[in-house]
Amino acid sequence: MSKGFPETRTDAAMSELVPEPRPKPAVPMKPVSINSNLLGYIGIDTIIEQMRKKTMKTGFDFNIMVVGQSGLGKSTLVNTLFKSQVSRKASSWNREEKIPKTVEIKAIGHVIEEGGVKMKLTVIDTPGFGDQINNENCWEPIEKYINEQYEKFLKEEVNIARKKRIPDTRVHCCLYFISPTGHSLRPLDLEFMKHLSKVVNIIPVIAKADTMTLEEKSEFKQRQESMPFAVVGSDKEYQVNGKRVLGRKTPWGIIEVENLNHCEFALLRDFVIRTHLQDLKEVTHNIHYETYRAKRLNDNGGLPPGEGLLGTVLPPVPATPCPTAE
Ligand code: GDP
Ligand code: MG
Repeated sequence: MSKGFPETRTDAAMSELVPEPRPKPAVPMKPVSINSNLLGYIGIDTIIEQMRKKTMKTGFDFNIMVVGQSGLGKSTLVNTLFKSQVSRKASSWNREEKIPKTVEIKAIGHVIEEGGVKMKLTVIDTPGFGDQINNENCWEPIEKYINEQYEKFLKEEVNIARKKRIPDTRVHCCLYFISPTGHSLRPLDLEFMKHLSKVVNIIPVIAKADTMTLEEKSEFKQRQESMPFAVVGSDKEYQVNGKRVLGRKTPWGIIEVENLNHCEFALLRDFVIRTHLQDLKEVTHNIHYETYRAKRLNDNGGLPPGEGLLGTVLPPVPATPCPTAE
């Protein structure tokens, strides 16, 4: 009906009729961009300030895991990243004494505040990884830990009286330490990254990059498609050109951890904290946790009664293919 009135009506009848509004099109109209300056200030841009206030009030969680053989500088690097003693370092490092028989997983929480914003940081250490003679399947306890955190979150999420803010213990980022001496990835490195990239964001780093020669560094670069960050960690400060900087003193001079001519620590720090922290959290939630959740809810039917997470409440969710972290 294009004209609005049927053609058979008389003139009299027509004069009494108030024209009907035209039927609205079913398709939503494209939003038209309006220059709000012309019409006066609305206040849309205050959302940024509102979000900022909210983050200031609630703070945020960030959970970072470190994996790699003992002595590669994991604790030192995490302390360097957050400029504080967030990971315990053995005071006099003794390889023999420190190595546990199996992979242990230890989570230590801290609150770090900067500019009025509180970060609840949890550092998850995995001493013992890769330290045994036979390191077959030593990634398993780590994968188990990561999945246990997803399970905890899922249990909270499906609870009828669920909390407004579910405590987030999920691992948002896993720094994987590659030995600087191997010239390339060892089978253990490949195994770990192959299995764990399905469940967590992995950022590979070449540890103790100050111990590599330039040739070794470029050899590593040629072998890998994308170079893992070659990093140096330190908790000692030195005076360089009138400024105090974190560095390592060597017979050839001071290696400054934040100097890009010396190592790629600053790139790693910028990526993990300054540009992609929110992204790491979102990928954890939207991809890794979502994959776990879909699989878990689908599998639930197979669990014995009582152990079932949900009973019969939720319908099965289609499983999404396992995405890998970039
Ligand atoms: P973890 O066992 O992997 O946690 O290693 P630690 O952080 O406890 O460090 C082990 C030893 O390596 C300590 O003596 C550190 O001072 C030293 N270390 C840490 N980071 C570096 C680095 O980037 N370069 C060098 N040359 N030594 C480092
Ligand atoms: Mg350590």
